[in-house]
Amino acid sequence: MNIHEYQAKQLFAEFGIPVPAGAACHKEEEFAAAADQIPGGIWVVKAQIHAGGRGKGTFTDGYKGGVQVTKTKEDAIAAAKKMLGNTLVTKQTGPAGRVVRTIYFNEACSIKHEYYLAILLDRSCSKPVVIASTEGGMNIEEVAEKTPEKIAKVWIDPAIGMRAYQATELAFRLGFVGDEAKQFKKLVLNLYKLYAAKDCTLVEINPMVATNDGKIVALDAKVSFDDNSLFRHPEVEALRDITEEDPKEVEARKFDLNYIALDGSIACLVNGAGLAMSTMDIIKYCGGSPANFLDVGGSATVEQVTAAFRIITQDPHVKGILVNIFGGIMSCLTIAEGIVEAAKTVEIKVPLVVRLEGNQVEEGKKVLAESGLKITPADSLIDGARKAVAEVNAFVAANK
Ligand code: GDP
Ligand code: MN
Repeated sequence: MNIHEYQAKQLFAEFGIPVPAGAACHKEEEFAAAADQIPGGIWVVKAQIHAGGRGKGTFTDGYKGGVQVTKTKEDAIAAAKKMLGNTLVTKQTGPAGRVVRTIYFNEACSIKHEYYLAILLDRSCSKPVVIASTEGGMNIEEVAEKTPEKIAKVWIDPAIGMRAYQATELAFRLGFVGDEAKQFKKLVLNLYKLYAAKDCTLVEINPMVATNDGKIVALDAKVSFDDNSLFRHPEVEALRDITEEDPKEVEARKFDLNYIALDGSIACLVNGAGLAMSTMDIIKYCGGSPANFLDVGGSATVEQVTAAFRIITQDPHVKGILVNIFGGIMSCLTIAEGIVEAAKTVEIKVPLVVRLEGNQVEEGKKVLAESGLKITPADSLIDGARKAVAEVNAFVAANK
């Protein structure tokens, strides 16, 4: 789960990580009061969306920059008015962009240098890794590719936590000395505390800045949480902004379905995450592309299968469906009944290929055969994928 910059900075403040003074608001009437809360006489007006690259982004009406530095309150409010309700397109949003529903006014900093700092999970060694660079404010992937020596990393033993000497090493690598080094070490140790305490998958500060008046400040903030930990963090769940999420994924969550929307044309309905991934792989192998990852789980009910079908068929990109079930705990009969039930309430206009195997497979196949539904049965994973790709191609050609 992701949150907005203004929420992330609120968390930073709670954990003792310095952030500029800020005020967030959702309505034009609140702009003046929010701008009045910002000291210093220079305002940074920031569009709040769950995507980075806002500074270099462009709104769909041509207005440039989702981050604006303004020298008068009037200019700050004028920029906020341009942004609110407008759609911001950045490198991370895709061409459709995101509608800005919140504006964040910040106190401006006088920047001496921009750094990069992040903590995330290094899956290759099952440890959190702290990544820091003197090349902040820009695309870190590009820095990693062109000048890898400018990226410092320290790995943290999760059972011990981040140690002071590790913070010292990073401070040295970033070239901090004296009071700046002291501030940085405190900041990065607190950032690790936040990362661990809130079960984050990522905390990122890009840029973290050294200011001309000797301070180290988080100028931007990105925090992502492990969805599997949300049950023990109601305060984090409360920060969720469903307007930033794919409505199909929001719907899927209501039914406890493991669903991720993708940009292909073949919808997959599978039980088990591993099988779902191999199904996506084999669709690609056969020349198609998956429209989603969907794991209905090991013990799905007819209601869940119906919900899954409703979500899949409402996606205009879906030109065909491949159901791939290996019945272990899950019964093929439940899936078959779910498909028949779903077909009563949602119209399935695209080709449907079904491969069932395992627990109660004969009963399941019988229900489908007697349902009168137009279904292409498949005998194996590869057979199912080939048939799905062929039928989707034919369907797309026929509906051109
Ligand atoms: P992003 O483009 O979505 O990553 O948004 P950021 O919050 O990182 O802001 C983009 C850029 O705006 C930063 O890299 C800074 O160069 C600039 N910026 C943001 N806040 C300030 C500020 O207080 N003072 C100055 N001078 N520049 C700022
Ligand atoms: Mn940034």
